[in-house]
Amino acid sequence: MAAEEPADRTTVSSADVVHLGHAIEVARESRRRGNHPFGAILVAGDGTVLTAENSVVTTGDPTGHAELILVRRAGVRLSRQQLSVSTLYTSTEPCAMCSGAIYWAGIGRVVYGLPEEDLARMVPAQDGAPTMDLPCGRSSRAAAPP
Ligand SMILES: [Zn+2]
Repeated sequence: MAAEEPADRTTVSSADVVHLGHAIEVARESRRRGNHPFGAILVAGDGTVLTAENSVVTTGDPTGHAELILVRRAGVRLSRQQLSVSTLYTSTEPCAMCSGAIYWAGIGRVVYGLPEEDLARMVPAQDGAPTMDLPCGRSSRAAAPP
């Protein structure tokens, strides 16, 4: 089954909601494995689905974010053209590190559940470092004509 293309890139379709639910289930699995509760999936234009979950605790790698792992996995499996028409679904808005990876991989679209600003309010500072309260990309408001 090919990925469903929404009417525009900022509209969330019913298929997007299903894929986002899958990413949230991956986040739950991450928590069950003892990691932070973050998960991501990538749906390519041909329907290929790749998944990744957070691995920060179990690997001891502070960069083991689900989205970054997923981008690396997708980058070696998919062409630039495939990446450009792919959508990355993630349980929480990607952080600045992961947003950079998504950008440099040329992944065409991101759909996320919990916004970063809401995460920042929910999660206390870890080791004196609060979450990076930065948006992952242009907002639809900023991109919309006046
Ligand atoms: Zn991240």
